[in-house]
Amino acid sequence: MKSNNNHTAAPKDQREVLVVEGIQKMYGNRRALKGLTFTLLAGRVMGFLGPNGAGKTTSIRILTTIMEPDAGHFTVDGIEFDQPEKIRRKIGVLPENLGFPRQMTAVEYLVYFGQLYGLPPQSAKTNAMRLLNVVGLENRTKSLISSFSHGMRQRLGIARALVNNPVVVFLDEPTLGLDPRGQQELLLLIQRIAREHQTGVILCSHMLSEIEGICDDVIILSSGQVVAQGAVNSVIGDIQRNIARVRVPPENVDTSLELLSAIPNVFKVSSDPQMRGWLSVELADFIAADSQSGNLRNAILKVLIQSEIPVLSYEAEGGRLQDVFLQLTEEVIK
Ligand code: ADP
Repeated sequence: MKSNNNHTAAPKDQREVLVVEGIQKMYGNRRALKGLTFTLLAGRVMGFLGPNGAGKTTSIRILTTIMEPDAGHFTVDGIEFDQPEKIRRKIGVLPENLGFPRQMTAVEYLVYFGQLYGLPPQSAKTNAMRLLNVVGLENRTKSLISSFSHGMRQRLGIARALVNNPVVVFLDEPTLGLDPRGQQELLLLIQRIAREHQTGVILCSHMLSEIEGICDDVIILSSGQVVAQGAVNSVIGDIQRNIARVRVPPENVDTSLELLSAIPNVFKVSSDPQMRGWLSVELADFIAADSQSGNLRNAILKVLIQSEIPVLSYEAEGGRLQDVFLQLTEEVIK
């Protein structure tokens, strides 16, 4: 299995910077979150993935203290959620569609926010210059924000989110509207910040590729429910078994189930209850190479053809996060 995952090694620091337990939220009688539980460690990037309406924004609003949960609780760097002012000093946020004052320079903008957090003017300036350096805007410190490209504004937004040296940063769809190169650069910047500053990062995205590319951990939400969570590689791994779907005439389903179950290395064969005729054939071992999927296909076709069972269709399922995501959120997408 080839992955486009370009992780640098995850840090060894096991400090828990965000601990969330059983958070629930209703809007009227609509249950937007049905129980969110996870732990984010220092220096790691956690992806929040889910289709529209899954509950990502609700989660972020609660964890950034904009909204209270109906049930459950969380701590940021050990601070309980019922102390929102203290929590706000520990977190940074890059909301979706952040507006910028166009007539300010980059450095003025960051100095302003530094002072809001109580830094004296000179320290706020030093901090602003340091952050502009972190996000690669050191040559544009005195440029008006109105002259910035979208990508540069997103970098400035990230710098703003880091002004108070937060232990957790929340980034809501940070790469939206950027071209592929801009996306990639911003994601690598986010990963570098997490690693170098030991910041825990929550990255909301509907883009599977970016979660797969830079996140260490992932939570997949669907209709307010966590449908998968864990280290990106293990979430993919859980469903990374080599699965093939094969369609035979309905009258041959039972015989095919028997024949296919007898193939060496086949872990499970199941018949689709809704679409009679479709069978899923799952290999016992995780797929390591394309040749294995070729072997499985050959074995399936061979036993069916030898028994004169017509193969009406054949599909292989991959093990990319995209497949996991589609599989787990299927009922929402339909
Ligand atoms: P996401 O960010 O993943 O798209 P949201 O957290 O915005 O999901 O929404 C989760 C669910 O809550 C959706 O069904 C949405 O329609 C509903 N919802 C969100 N905000 C409100 C609100 N202010 N009032 C009522 N329902 C809302």
